[in-house]
Amino acid sequence: MKKTKVLAYHKILNRHSFLRQIQYLIRNNDFDCSNQNLFITVDDGDPSFYHNAFPILKKYNIPAILFVITDLINTQKPFWWDEIEYYLGKEEGNKKVWEVKGWENRKRESYLKNLRGKSSKPILKYEQLTTAQLKEMQNAGIIIANHSHTHPMFDQCTCEELENEIKNSTNFLKELGFTPDIFAYPNGNYSPVAESILQKYGIKQAYLFDHKINKGEENPLRISRLVVNDTTPLWKFKLILSGWHSRILPITKALGKLRK
Ligand SMILES: [Zn+2]
Repeated sequence: MKKTKVLAYHKILNRHSFLRQIQYLIRNNDFDCSNQNLFITVDDGDPSFYHNAFPILKKYNIPAILFVITDLINTQKPFWWDEIEYYLGKEEGNKKVWEVKGWENRKRESYLKNLRGKSSKPILKYEQLTTAQLKEMQNAGIIIANHSHTHPMFDQCTCEELENEIKNSTNFLKELGFTPDIFAYPNGNYSPVAESILQKYGIKQAYLFDHKINKGEENPLRISRLVVNDTTPLWKFKLILSGWHSRILPITKALGKLRK
């Protein structure tokens, strides 16, 4: 593998800002086939990708990998972190999400069940992507890939839970006619046990969320990615692509300013 830069997005809500980023990358020849050193990945399969990013990528003929949470496809189930914010409010909910990410998976699941059960609010609904939308994107060059079945934190799962997550998501994608051999760790949480299960299920590439540029000679099951979002201003976007941002990030983190 060459010195590849892989960008990792989540929701893409600001179409104009995303367009400016893509146009910058095109001007910079980052997608030049003979010099392919950059590609775009998007985690979680939020429908905003289909509505805001896909038309732009299609127009400029830029490939991307979309990592989907298979249990949510064709449903109105919300992302579990959105649910926590819905029940607790934006600010308190956001703090809670970070706390819950450090819990054993079983505890996280029963906490969510409890939240839904004891609230007087109606169940939160969210229109997720459909098979037809996934197929349409695949036909236009978007690779539909695996981001687990229910998006637990893999370092908080038992072996049995990991096996189920990988088995269910792989089977789901196969049944829909996709090739499920590319995977992104939910929240980027790497787990050595998961890695051996991924291999067992034929996964050939797995992506982290570590804000690093690949130096070449990578283990294909631990590919680094640079974290960006649709509203990252261009000056910062350039800094991230240059690799400087990931070098200064540990320092800012050490200063305790950037916990996220
Ligand atoms: Zn994710």
